[in-house]
Amino acid sequence: MTDETKRTWAEIDLGAIEHNYRAMRAKLAPGTRFLGVVKANAYGHGAVQVSRLLAGLGCEYLAVACLDEALELRRAGIKLPILILGYTPPQYAVTLAENDVTQAVGSFAVAEALNEALAGTGLTLKVHFKLETGMGRTGFRAYGGTALADAAKAMALPRLEPEGVFTHFCVSDGDEGVRDFTWTQLERFKTGFQAIEAQAGKAFQIHHCTNSGAMIAFPETYMDMVRPGVALYGVYPGTDRGDLDLVPAMSLKSRVAYVEDHQPGDTISYGRTFTVEKPSRIAVLPIGYADGLHRALSNKLTVDIGGQKVRQAGRICMDMCMLDVTGTDVKSGDVAEIFGKVMPAGEVADLAGTIHYELFCAVSPRVPRIYVQ
Ligand SMILES: *Cc1c(COP(=O)(O)O)cnc(C)c1O
Repeated sequence: MTDETKRTWAEIDLGAIEHNYRAMRAKLAPGTRFLGVVKANAYGHGAVQVSRLLAGLGCEYLAVACLDEALELRRAGIKLPILILGYTPPQYAVTLAENDVTQAVGSFAVAEALNEALAGTGLTLKVHFKLETGMGRTGFRAYGGTALADAAKAMALPRLEPEGVFTHFCVSDGDEGVRDFTWTQLERFKTGFQAIEAQAGKAFQIHHCTNSGAMIAFPETYMDMVRPGVALYGVYPGTDRGDLDLVPAMSLKSRVAYVEDHQPGDTISYGRTFTVEKPSRIAVLPIGYADGLHRALSNKLTVDIGGQKVRQAGRICMDMCMLDVTGTDVKSGDVAEIFGKVMPAGEVADLAGTIHYELFCAVSPRVPRIYVQ
């Protein structure tokens, strides 16, 4: 697709997201809920558009990272339950409750503060308890210590409605051998929530722990609800593809602005890191690090222009970069794909020394998202 009015854009294939959703849904037993992770603007794909799509497909829950992301969805009329995975200062307990947003809670202190902030309002807040099972990040510690007793105590706070319990895996997307620690985490999770439920004398309705890595490699984790993110957007979190056939949804594209002739000895861009060695054609592509094209990719990136692979040349600037198009017929107006359906985001991420998740999140707000089916 070529939108003639755009310099640089992210083409989002909603049909691909639908396909990925259905492919994962097909792996679930009837009655297992599907939570779609749409944090960070749906990994750059547009949280409102993706949430509307998922709601229409029968997805039961959404998750975001923070309050502003949840409120953006509520303001757009999204009615699905929304879980905030990250921290919200307890001062916002009323805002959470009034907007029917579910909050993750990972300590007694935070649970108590949220409960306290709702005193006298007549409101209650839906919460999911986060258990720490080995990620080393947040949650009631499920292995050793006294945190499970704290969690059971938090279950009794009158203005909190403990609907769910969850944990997060740190190596479920790893290669065989590496990912085995997931079994330890799963065991800690089960033992942990069972202990809380026994002590509190009531059970959670929803137990969930399946990220994209576990979706592919650990069907034993599915329980009452799965919680994938990146796989919805059509990329595999690690090297294992399992039996999932995913289609990438985002293609980052830009349009060649100029093509200039250069002579041997000419240098390209800041720092003079690229020297022209023979008579060359150098194209200017209007995308730079302010659009989300990592400067670390300078002199490493290859882009696709109509099936031809061309090398990026010289430092990537804030708003543009250059391509060596010598020996090609590339001309002003031609469309380049940086990553997406032709150039796998994972390979581009490797060149930048990062992961594709970060490339998607980096696509900045000034890059328009163009939706196609
Ligand atoms: C981001 C996140 C997910 C989704 O992870 P993917 O690897 O994108 O599937 C699930 N759970 C939590 C707690 C997260 O922070």
